[in-house]
Amino acid sequence: MAAPAHPLTRRIVIAMLAGMVLGVSLNLVGVADRVQTMLVDGLLKVAGTLFVSALKMMVVPLVFVSLVAGVTALSDVRALGRIGAKALALYLLTTALAVSIALGLAVNVGPGQNFDAGDSPARFSGKDAPAFSQVLIDLVPTNPVAAMAEGNMLQIIVFALLFGVAVTMSGKRGQHVLNLFGDLNTVIMHMVEWIMRLAPYGVFALIARTFASQGLDLLLPLAAYFLTLTAALAIQALVTYPFLLKSLAGLNPATFLKKMRDPAAFAFSTASSGATIPVTLHTLEKKLGVHNSVASFSVPLGATINMDGTAMMQGVATVFIANVYGVDLSLTDYLLVVLTATLASVGTAAIPAVGLVTLTMVLSQVGLPVEGIALIIGVDRLLDMMRTTVNVTGDAAVSCIIAKSERALDQATFDDPHAGLSDGSPKPAPAASTPA
Ligand code: ASP
Repeated sequence: MAAPAHPLTRRIVIAMLAGMVLGVSLNLVGVADRVQTMLVDGLLKVAGTLFVSALKMMVVPLVFVSLVAGVTALSDVRALGRIGAKALALYLLTTALAVSIALGLAVNVGPGQNFDAGDSPARFSGKDAPAFSQVLIDLVPTNPVAAMAEGNMLQIIVFALLFGVAVTMSGKRGQHVLNLFGDLNTVIMHMVEWIMRLAPYGVFALIARTFASQGLDLLLPLAAYFLTLTAALAIQALVTYPFLLKSLAGLNPATFLKKMRDPAAFAFSTASSGATIPVTLHTLEKKLGVHNSVASFSVPLGATINMDGTAMMQGVATVFIANVYGVDLSLTDYLLVVLTATLASVGTAAIPAVGLVTLTMVLSQVGLPVEGIALIIGVDRLLDMMRTTVNVTGDAAVSCIIAKSERALDQATFDDPHAGLSDGSPKPAPAASTPA
């Protein structure tokens, strides 16, 4: 079958660029009140918010149904423990690597050394991160319906895993439930595809509005911080993940990065790895050939606990704030930053700007003033968009590596440049394959 003339991905990329051009122009020219009300706070806001709401609408049903279907597709329950252990180990490893790279770069570049903090914006008051014991206690939902209503991802994962295991152990009756969840999964994926077809409009509206309201002039005094972090994020996405994919799974990194363009665009424009879950799952299963039994578990888990980009921001921000306040960090301090930023990434919610809140944990750990966060808030939105893109890419890379090691990655789909291409025309859902 020939590739469609305008695959969705290309339309999304064009929409992003057009959104940037419109947003930056509106920002530079300065808009009249009427344009601001009708276009920026009217049309663009409504279209962008509707799009993000539609994505979020799919997250809980998709994660629950897909995870139950995924667990029941596993040949034995032990595989579940293995996948979980690999996911946890790789997520922690990639995050620790990410912070180390960010710290190494920041220490060498030294952002913030000549920074004048004289007219810094209002003070920042951070919220405390939850205690680790509470995180453990909260893993088991007292009410699964409440967990779903609140979108508590870890609780939904725990309930879905237990439910899925029970389904497989319930013999013939469980088989009916299993078939039902398999069918539901196909139906929900179909709905996700509808939203993906609307992506060019949603992405355009989100990006245009962000750039219209984010003055680029804020960037200049913080250019060193901004550029150091951007470079660190680029290294993680373009060097670390490709290296891990190649060395641990023998997968072609160029194919991976090319196929990750849709989730990357969604993550960039929404700044929320949580809202991007449906697209990440769709891409992994339909384009990269990762079996549902791995993707349905590793993606929501990764979106919740694996935030490599966020941890990198925390590393660079710590060095920047230390430089501004003239504090010398010791080697122990740096090690503490790696440790706390890795743990903070586990506790960071997959929604915009939360990384700044958990940064308070890292700063207090090394005795830096939490108010320093006020210095970087101004440029955080743009950096949030970039780090979320890295967060999502990291989840997908780890999913591919686990799938490959579990023989749950369909190499033919991974290699096929046209796999899962959506041209906007409805097509029958392919039958799910089972892992070898
Ligand atoms: N926006 C990030 C995410 O959703 C979290 C953060 O760093 O604020 O992945």
